[in-house]
Amino acid sequence: MHIADYSVTRAILERHGFTFKKSFGQNFLTDTNILQKIVDTAEIDEAVNVIEIGPGIGALTEFLAERAAEVMAFEIDERLVPILADTLRDFDNVTVVNQDILKTDLEAAVKQFKNPALPIKVVANLPYYITTPILMHLIESGIPFSEFVVMMQREVADRISAEPNTKAYGSLSIAVQYYMTAKVAFIVPRTVFVPAPNVDSAILKMTRRPEPAVAVTDEKFFFKVAKASFTHRRKTLWNNLTSYFGKADGVKEKLEAALEAASLQPSVRGEALTLEDFARLADSLKAEGLG
Ligand code: SAM
Repeated sequence: MHIADYSVTRAILERHGFTFKKSFGQNFLTDTNILQKIVDTAEIDEAVNVIEIGPGIGALTEFLAERAAEVMAFEIDERLVPILADTLRDFDNVTVVNQDILKTDLEAAVKQFKNPALPIKVVANLPYYITTPILMHLIESGIPFSEFVVMMQREVADRISAEPNTKAYGSLSIAVQYYMTAKVAFIVPRTVFVPAPNVDSAILKMTRRPEPAVAVTDEKFFFKVAKASFTHRRKTLWNNLTSYFGKADGVKEKLEAALEAASLQPSVRGEALTLEDFARLADSLKAEGLG
């Protein structure tokens, strides 16, 4: 039997008198086949250290601990700490840290692994209310995580992994795909959680690129330009850029010159631009003195 077997989960919750806290995004997995698929997708073995975010009562942690060298699990809800000490008592390779992942100094944390030289993967069933902040916190931490295999709302997974010229493609696709390749591994129906969330979920596999997808002179400006280009999705690139850069003297001419230098038509929509297009655009705007 596993923690995630429905009857075991129910018994644990009852034994500890646990009540779900919606504000922490608590939807616990009760399907061992899905958990098996998650650890298979993440290719966890004894040569990998794992960071887990939000272990809950340990459904995924148990599957990870059985395979990984070590698991460090960050859980914000202090009520879950004694429960995890109970459910994971058979494992000596799991550390539960009672901390908000967004306030965690990840660089200091990963130094605590017994073998810090091993590759680190992030595997988690994320709290959905902060999916994007968590991903950006992990990516921007500068830690060379080799892979993220994480569950999130299906809609967000689609947006992150979207290709140009699709409805889901936007600044989030660019923010993540700049650093990582992203692919939906499989869909998870809402029925396998207690309590069931209102949306279906997906497992997204993101693998760090050896180098960012494109070379840009100013990363921050590149992301700003991408974001500005999607402000009003139905408007043209030209309209979005003129609203962003304003109408001061000379701006229009500089924008025209930058678009021409980047070989982009003013009438194109942001969603048609690839990462390479945005990189050329941001660099040309900067060269015109707009960045
Ligand atoms: N891993 C468990 C599972 O699959 O059954 C639970 C997943 S549940 C969707 C999300 C978990 O993240 C909850 O245990 C919740 O308390 C925790 N959590 C929410 N916000 C957090 C934060 N900022 N930092 C760390 N954990 C958080």
